[in-house]
Amino acid sequence: MQTNFSLAQLADPHVAESEKILRKCVHCGFCTATCPTYVTLGNELDSPRGRIYLIKDMLENGRPADKEIVTHIDRCLSCLACMTTCPSGVNYMHLVDHARAHIEQTYKRPLLDRLTRAMLALVLPYPNRFRAALKLAGLGRPFIGLFEKLPALKPVAAMLKLAPSSLPPASPKALPSMHAGQGAKHGRVAILTGCAQSVLDPAINDTAISLLTRLGVEVVVPEGEGCCGALVHHMGREDQALASARRNVDVWTRAIDQGRLDAIVITASGCGTTIKDYGFMLRLDPTYAEKAARVSSLAKDITEYLAALDLPEPLRKPGTVVAYHSACSMQHGQKITRQPKELLAKAGFVVREPREGHLCCGSAGTYNILQPEISSKLRDRKVKNIEATGASVVATGNIGCITQIASAARLPVVHTIKLLDWAYGGPKPEGLSDSILTAAE
Ligand code: SF4
Ligand code: SF4
Repeated sequence: MQTNFSLAQLADPHVAESEKILRKCVHCGFCTATCPTYVTLGNELDSPRGRIYLIKDMLENGRPADKEIVTHIDRCLSCLACMTTCPSGVNYMHLVDHARAHIEQTYKRPLLDRLTRAMLALVLPYPNRFRAALKLAGLGRPFIGLFEKLPALKPVAAMLKLAPSSLPPASPKALPSMHAGQGAKHGRVAILTGCAQSVLDPAINDTAISLLTRLGVEVVVPEGEGCCGALVHHMGREDQALASARRNVDVWTRAIDQGRLDAIVITASGCGTTIKDYGFMLRLDPTYAEKAARVSSLAKDITEYLAALDLPEPLRKPGTVVAYHSACSMQHGQKITRQPKELLAKAGFVVREPREGHLCCGSAGTYNILQPEISSKLRDRKVKNIEATGASVVATGNIGCITQIASAARLPVVHTIKLLDWAYGGPKPEGLSDSILTAAE
């Protein structure tokens, strides 16, 4: 794509980066076919190619964002299916991240939209605040119907619908600690505690720690870890996202300095995609660039890390039919497609892949709150494809997808690690009955 940026504009390293990305796009439009919003809405401006044109026009003319571009960029899920499809290697992720930051700096959203976004940014990344908010959600639940009728309050209704009616207690394993590996030592890793997942399903990390330590891996939960910054990054709140990244880089750098660290293990693929991008996000910060790149190179999804270990034979051979839902951040963001399925198959599960596996389930961070209508359409489409597999349980590697799919599916949805842990001798995953786990093909 030909671009016309001035030298003065290109002096801004963010613009220079976006210009490089824009020049790679050859307008072929292959990406439109796999874009969930184009597939759902059928509007070129809700396709990757259409958004690329809008971003180019905004940046090239040095214009503040306007309502039209905000509408179409807000509808983008950042699922990155377009990056998997693109034959020219267009880095849409970095382009849309720049566009979102530009929107945040130059566009004044309507008051309720601003308040909703500010509230999400103030609550979701902080487990104590998020826990308190979820407890309060019970008070608002009777008003869901009313909120749904008022367009500006639809995000509040979506939030209330997604809020679970009860919460598991916080896990002591999420506190700073060291969990020694059993038997012969096979590695040392740090694990990300994160934010929303530690509140909604702390058993995911507990299970990962349990399985890793049984496999001889020492697991460190370093002091000071927090949200990876993905939630606010996707809202264009660059300063807040970078502050989260810097804090975690400091924490993990200390852990690296205290002893060899083989990996920073992450059990939510949405977080993994962002942490693997810390090197890029902090490239212009001379104090952090090198440390951030080192952290990114150590970041591994739990299935990526397990697949590289020499796993023993599983203790159970379940034969349970599992529908594997590959989160967008897993398959498109991190290009992890093989490992989770191979691990499940090796552990004795029969793995089925739903049709249209490349399409997002509509979760996408805060998307199911901010764009509830498109999100519900995508969720229902995903659930239909999952249920058509005839599986008795769904496995996936991202808490957002678990919450989203479970809100409509008739079959249980669990994190992949819970099924693996059970097959390797761990306890039965909560919520899964014997009849589900032993329902062989
Ligand atoms: S990130 Fe997803 S929703 Fe956004 S343009 Fe690409 S394919 Fe479409
Ligand atoms: S597939 Fe890639 S090169 Fe083709 S229009 Fe989409 S982003 Fe541009």
